[in-house]
Amino acid sequence: MKTVLITGAAGFLGSHLCDRFILDGYKVIGMDNLITGRLNNIEHLFKLENFEFYNHDVSKFIHVSGSLDFILHFASPASPIDYLKIPIQTLKVGSLGVHNCLGLAKAKGARILIASTSEVYGDPTVHPQTENYWGNVNPVGPRGVYDEAKRFQEAITMAYHNFHGLETRIARIFNTYGPRMRLNDGRVLPAFIGQALRGEDLTIFGDGSQTRSFCYIDDLIEGIVSLLNSNYSQPVNIGNPSEISIKDFAKEIIKLTGTDQKVIYKDLPIDDPKQRRPDITKAKNILDWTPLVHRSDGLQKTYRYFQNLSKEELNETEHYNFDKYIKK
Ligand code: UDP
Repeated sequence: MKTVLITGAAGFLGSHLCDRFILDGYKVIGMDNLITGRLNNIEHLFKLENFEFYNHDVSKFIHVSGSLDFILHFASPASPIDYLKIPIQTLKVGSLGVHNCLGLAKAKGARILIASTSEVYGDPTVHPQTENYWGNVNPVGPRGVYDEAKRFQEAITMAYHNFHGLETRIARIFNTYGPRMRLNDGRVLPAFIGQALRGEDLTIFGDGSQTRSFCYIDDLIEGIVSLLNSNYSQPVNIGNPSEISIKDFAKEIIKLTGTDQKVIYKDLPIDDPKQRRPDITKAKNILDWTPLVHRSDGLQKTYRYFQNLSKEELNETEHYNFDKYIKK
């Protein structure tokens, strides 16, 4: 039986990866320090013999006994509001955390895949974004702690590959959605659905002309697994190229939830990318992967998940301090 270590196991993406590798017959070691992850995303796995959970911060030395075949480094805060709240941890997990994971992979002879992000492209001047675009990132803006940590993460991963011959994979993950997103992480989809369910107006930042391209979680997981199993060590975009403006997205959510909410406009946060769409030619050619889930189906499934949350969860709207994030 092969063993995989998944960091960020209690998070949105990490918990779905745990499910997938358990289904595929692996022994899964999940690791998380539970700052942004939640145990209820993985508690259904606790009774399984093939699943182990370590409550550990990967920015500190990682000890795992026995052999490891794969490491998937998915630990990181991943929403602009989270980076604002915990900027130092965001930098540490993307630098010290990945260094520990790479060292562990080297010691165990494991193949490692790291979760990078479309944020390495910053506010892109090339559209759609291809992997050979180097990006337009403000290192000292509110997103800098995430963007630069992820850029460093890619650099050190390539260095381990080139210098130590480590088997490495780099996934540049674009906006992803689905069940287990945190309702109050500030991201647009849980924000809009939470607002609709609570009967509040939907908050559009800026004029809503900025675009994003949303990939359903099942497609994303399939793409990650294909990349891990490939022999390709350069970065690969994984995302859904179906692009939509935030204004139109708000309309889709209002239609989906059947509510008659209005939209209200707030200031656009600093360095908020104006456009984002992955060019997935590489993933199609190299991995033979393409997203299959249409947004209307993915949104239905996601909405059902949020509808089933308890009243307490729905009203747990601890909003972080937006002040530094929003342009005055
Ligand atoms: N956004 C919005 N209203 C919200 C939350 C987000 O209009 O209540 C906008 C945000 O400014 C950005 C887009 O939606 O332009 C996507 O934001 P998200 O935080 O989901 O992800 P990211 O900006 O990292 O793609």
